[in-house]
Amino acid sequence: MARSGRSVICVDKGSGPGAGSTSASSAIIRFSYSTIDSVLTAWESAAHWHAWHDHLGVDDPDGMARFIPTGMLIFDTPNGALHRLTPLWDDVGIAYEHLDAQQIADRFPALDVGSYFPPKAVDDPAFGNDAVGELTALFDPSSGYIDDPLLAARNIAYAARHNGAEFVFHREVVAVDLDGGRVRGVRLDDGSVIAAPVVVNAAGPHSAGVNRLAGAERDMTIGNRPLRQEVFAVPGPASLTLERGAPIVADLDLGQYFRPQVGGTLLVGGTEPECDPLEWIEDPDHFDEHPTVEKFETTMHRLARRLPEFGVPVRPVGLAALYDVADDWVPIYDASCVPGWFMACATSGNQFKNAPLAGKFMLALIEAAEQGRDHDRRPVQFRGSRTGRTIDLGAFSRRRTPAVTSGTVMG
Ligand SMILES: Cc1cc2nc3c(=O)[nH]c(=O)nc-3n(C[C@H](O)[C@H](O)[C@H](O)COP(=O)(O)OP(=O)(O)OC[C@H]3O[C@@H](n4cnc5c(N)ncnc54)[C@H](O)[C@@H]3O)c2cc1C
Repeated sequence: MARSGRSVICVDKGSGPGAGSTSASSAIIRFSYSTIDSVLTAWESAAHWHAWHDHLGVDDPDGMARFIPTGMLIFDTPNGALHRLTPLWDDVGIAYEHLDAQQIADRFPALDVGSYFPPKAVDDPAFGNDAVGELTALFDPSSGYIDDPLLAARNIAYAARHNGAEFVFHREVVAVDLDGGRVRGVRLDDGSVIAAPVVVNAAGPHSAGVNRLAGAERDMTIGNRPLRQEVFAVPGPASLTLERGAPIVADLDLGQYFRPQVGGTLLVGGTEPECDPLEWIEDPDHFDEHPTVEKFETTMHRLARRLPEFGVPVRPVGLAALYDVADDWVPIYDASCVPGWFMACATSGNQFKNAPLAGKFMLALIEAAEQGRDHDRRPVQFRGSRTGRTIDLGAFSRRRTPAVTSGTVMG
């Protein structure tokens, strides 16, 4: 937005760029979504991560975040998620391979190829049952991850400053000034006022509360709320390291995902299997930021099923953070019922990868509103530079009919 010539002020109650949930992100760049607009958004965004310097237009002297290519292995499950995915990838032109159990074992010998579906709680007597069959998988060679999500956010802030944006940290937006129902600016916790005809709510897990400050939640048909998550870093098997070509693994068969990282460790997180209670949080300023023994044990037992060589560490090393989850796990990039108020929120644990397009989407929505276009009736269409394909921004509307998705972080 700063690059488009606008006067931009970013207000964040945190200590610096990316210090919110972005700093906890697993930063996986993948294309496995349930809807065509989400697949296209991720695929278009990836091109910007590959050309990060060109995307930003500057080099941050503190270093640049890097895309680490790994590919991604997605195990199929009896509910057949992959059958919905491959037509979308065929449509967009995303390459993939189908692997049977033998091919998975040949390529990634550290992986047990047994199917244990459905995922079970560790105290379920059936948890230790033998495999009910063998897995098949999709392998997508184009996925990977960003080595440092916090640095990526700093890079974006550096580029924004270079284009004239200002940053105000340690200051909280506590009220919204309205005039005749239109946004006039925001009030901060020190009593100061920032006048602005356009305000974008990008408050992450706080965004539902921030929308309420403006009364912008009134006509939303999609709700969003914070969900607590835990992610662990563990020493992986010697044959499954980044250096030896380990992929990201989406193990919906056991209800989790893991990815390699530098130094031989694996990062492991959950995919909301039905057997795991969801930990909704009322107040995003108050939640337990420490990983729990219970979640650690569940995660480690599941990982040990998939990786027989894995030695369970004695202590949990990990973090707890919040997703900002939409009812259908699709983000909201939209205007609102309050003129001048926009939202980039409900990122549902899966929108780090779309950071390169989020600002472009919001700019397109703001410009359309300024030209008098009613996005609710005539959704803005965004043209992707990689594919030339159109992304229907109505797919990310706050007033959409809930999308049919996996109902999990996979989107
Ligand atoms: C554990 C975890 C793993 C994830 N893994 C992935 C992944 O592998 N791939 C992927 O694509 N996505 C992933 N995500 C999701 C991704 O990280 C988020 O979608 C993204 O980082 C959200 O960015 P954001 O800027 O919207 O929110 P945030 O980074 O949370 O930033 C919001 C900011 O708003 C500020 N704020 C809030 N309220 C106020 C207020 N009233 N006034 C002023 N400032 C305020 C906060 O201080 C914060 O800095 C993951 C998320 C988590 C938590």
